[in-house]
Amino acid sequence: SLIITDECINCDVCEPECPNNAISQGEEIYQIDPNLCTQCVGHYDEPQCQQVCPVDCIPLDPSHPETKDELYQKYLKISGQA
Ligand code: SF4
Ligand code: SF4
Repeated sequence: SLIITDECINCDVCEPECPNNAISQGEEIYQIDPNLCTQCVGHYDEPQCQQVCPVDCIPLDPSHPETKDELYQKYLKISGQA
């Protein structure tokens, strides 16, 4: 999963780009649900939120390390294919 840091300026451009609806407005900044973020595996070659974030505040979440295969299995699960 990726994570949104406190550098987020609440610009809202990432939320509609997420193919898994993993991004939502939190109490102060936007947040990513690690159970839904596949780092865009299954949909795109690159994380879409990272592509559009104007302040580059969406790094890998060190507390949720996942392999490509694990991310793909998550994609299959949330898309109802597994
Ligand atoms: Fe959504 Fe992809 Fe960003 Fe994860 S990396 S939050 S799946 S847009
Ligand atoms: Fe925050 Fe970046 Fe998303 Fe804008 S694109 S809401 S700055 S995380």
